[in-house]
Amino acid sequence: MSTDYSKELNVALLAVQRAAILTKQVFHSHAKGTLNKSDASPVTIGDFGAQALIIAAIKANFPDDEVVGEEEAKDLRENADLKKTVWDLVQAAKLDDDAAEKTLGGPIESDDRMLDVLDMGASQGGNKGRIWALDPIDGTKGFLRGGQYAVCLALMVDGDVKVGVLGCPNLPIDDSAPLTEDLGANATDAEGKGVLMSAILGKGADSRPLTRGALKSATPISMKTVDQLSNATFCESVEAAHSAHGDQAQIASKLGITKPSVRMDSQAKYASIARGAGDIYLRLPVKKDYQEKIWDHAAGDLIVREAGGEVTDAQGKRLDFSVGRTLKNNKGVVAAPKAIHAKVLEAVTSVLSAKQ
Ligand code: AMP
Ligand code: MG
Repeated sequence: MSTDYSKELNVALLAVQRAAILTKQVFHSHAKGTLNKSDASPVTIGDFGAQALIIAAIKANFPDDEVVGEEEAKDLRENADLKKTVWDLVQAAKLDDDAAEKTLGGPIESDDRMLDVLDMGASQGGNKGRIWALDPIDGTKGFLRGGQYAVCLALMVDGDVKVGVLGCPNLPIDDSAPLTEDLGANATDAEGKGVLMSAILGKGADSRPLTRGALKSATPISMKTVDQLSNATFCESVEAAHSAHGDQAQIASKLGITKPSVRMDSQAKYASIARGAGDIYLRLPVKKDYQEKIWDHAAGDLIVREAGGEVTDAQGKRLDFSVGRTLKNNKGVVAAPKAIHAKVLEAVTSVLSAKQ
């Protein structure tokens, strides 16, 4: 088998693009609209549908690969209405390009096959073999509020991330569009929105417009050079339960940053700093015992590193994707351009040690 990962990247990009057709549809018909026969939340419907579409594409191309996905089919097996709702959406989510659909193995054959495919996301992860980490809708709160969310897919080989793709339907296409505070809300997929970011280990990171058909050509992206730390833009979660806003504000102030943080949901934060729209992403733990999930970080970690960044945990350790479904060897995330990462980490250490 070739090892340049170009086939893997192509399949992953198209799979994420096809899944985003479904998530956008769910947003418009189920989150904003009133369509909801099954009484399930739009997040549930979108998560199931996107996961089924992506795993089907992976299995059609790489039948022996494993997948770590968040969802399992149990709820659909027990709820016929929900199953039908998801199945209708899955059938409708087709790329507008025959060759691209063919690459993904075409549509899923039946609703029962859809359930079986969904259950193929139960890999326990680890440091052996080819394992995909999938978050069908990362940033569920952002998805619901019409803010940022991302369809996230990464391939790990022997525990190391080799390929990463982030589909961000509500981010501006334009890599140089400034990060404004309103991006975290009211940022839906209107004209000019929707971007696919990707990277292969050792080959740099790219961005391209998210389409409904064949892939558009890619543009290389890189992090911005930060001449003055005090001018840096830092990103953090919207949800206060997901990262420690207070600690992060102290760290920013230690670095001399006066601009307010840009809050957005999902790995859109990694995507935004990778293309230099923002500079720093801080995610300090709120709860000591929380273990970050690999599907929340694998693609973003690679894309930022390939764009010239460094991603570590709060102690300066690289994120370790080889130990199962969670990052149990790490606490928190600190991502920044290589040249300033040490300085940022110094501020993190100083703020965290003062708390103890
Ligand atoms: P974000 O949109 O960056 O706030 O992150 C969304 C992700 O946060 C979800 O996919 C969850 O897996 C994850 N999450 C849930 N609870 C926590 C928590 N207590 N700390 C950190 N992340 C969490
Ligand atoms: Mg997530």
